[in-house]
Amino acid sequence: MSHPDGAEQGRPARAAYASDPSRSRGRRHPEAAAPTRTEYQRDRDRIVHSTAFRRLVYKTQVFLNHEGDLFRTRMTHSLEVAQLGRSIARPLGLDEDLVEAIALAHDLGHTPFGHAGQDALDDCMAGHGGFEHNLQSLRVVDSLEERYPCFDGLNLTFETREGVLKHCSRANAQRLEELEPGGVGRRFLERTQPGLEAQLCNLADEIAYNAHDIDDGVRSGLLTLEQLDAVELFASFRDEALADHPHLEGRRLLYEAIRRMLSAQVYDVIAATRQALEDGKVRSADEARRSSPVVRFSEPMRTRSSALKHFLLRNLYRHPQVVETTGQAKRVVRELFAAYADDPSQLQAGFAARPDRERAIADYIAGMTDRFAAREHERLTGRRLLP
Ligand code: MG
Repeated sequence: MSHPDGAEQGRPARAAYASDPSRSRGRRHPEAAAPTRTEYQRDRDRIVHSTAFRRLVYKTQVFLNHEGDLFRTRMTHSLEVAQLGRSIARPLGLDEDLVEAIALAHDLGHTPFGHAGQDALDDCMAGHGGFEHNLQSLRVVDSLEERYPCFDGLNLTFETREGVLKHCSRANAQRLEELEPGGVGRRFLERTQPGLEAQLCNLADEIAYNAHDIDDGVRSGLLTLEQLDAVELFASFRDEALADHPHLEGRRLLYEAIRRMLSAQVYDVIAATRQALEDGKVRSADEARRSSPVVRFSEPMRTRSSALKHFLLRNLYRHPQVVETTGQAKRVVRELFAAYADDPSQLQAGFAARPDRERAIADYIAGMTDRFAAREHERLTGRRLLP
């Protein structure tokens, strides 16, 4: 299945179905090749050096940043997605650099305060095109980063941008298609898949948050180990860990169960995806785009993973304590939006000068870290809603 030309030292050969940086569809603004790095390495490096990437340290994943120093942030979440993605990519012969680039960029468009912030901003933007965090991630890498002399954004390759735009409404896909015919919006109109590295990042995202939200949920005291008895995927590996280490308890038991659960999911995806590649006779990256989704769990693992996801939704994301703080966070975003709409001179100069007023406000707010948003809200309203 792999062909030897792509072999690099210490790595398996690039598979025929992998994205090949030397055959990239390229950048919107043509640039000369780098002397030693591939195009996807370069994308990854540009993302790591971006301002939006540094902001992820202070953006909420589930728990608000001020609630504790050890909870996942968007930054540590993104690093875990990249780690899981690379672990799966290497044995499959996929391009690890592309996987890493997409994983590190996939949440760049998230607002402060996680999904609560995004929902509030989407409400504020009703009638002005709405707000989608995936599309915002693309806006960040395509235009909002200001670091290069000759273009806005990071000027990433098509394949990285394709992976960053994980979901997109039809209306937004149509808008993208008008601006960039045949570009990253096209697949949402044609209902085709992205390349395999992008498919992999979607699944690695899910594996990562399912696991780390158990950890953070228990750490916060909102979930108990006993409650997790009801989650087969977790409970089976906890029982396995206890069978091997009968005296294990508390945090070490939690970590060992999560570690085994992560490994099992990684090996499951590798095996199920290999099978799907073989069954579908996928021989190139473009064939993968035209076939049904290839990177996948086995059916039994898909069922167990979905059950875990639903458990977290019911017991953690909708926990009254989480809902209460996210309610406050939504208010911060809504009131910030109203304050800037009322007095645009309060926006940072570059945003204040833009003719597309509402979108400029949304871009400005989306770029904020949790604590900057809370401080800015206090400055503009004189009230403090979050610590
Ligand atoms: Mg994510």
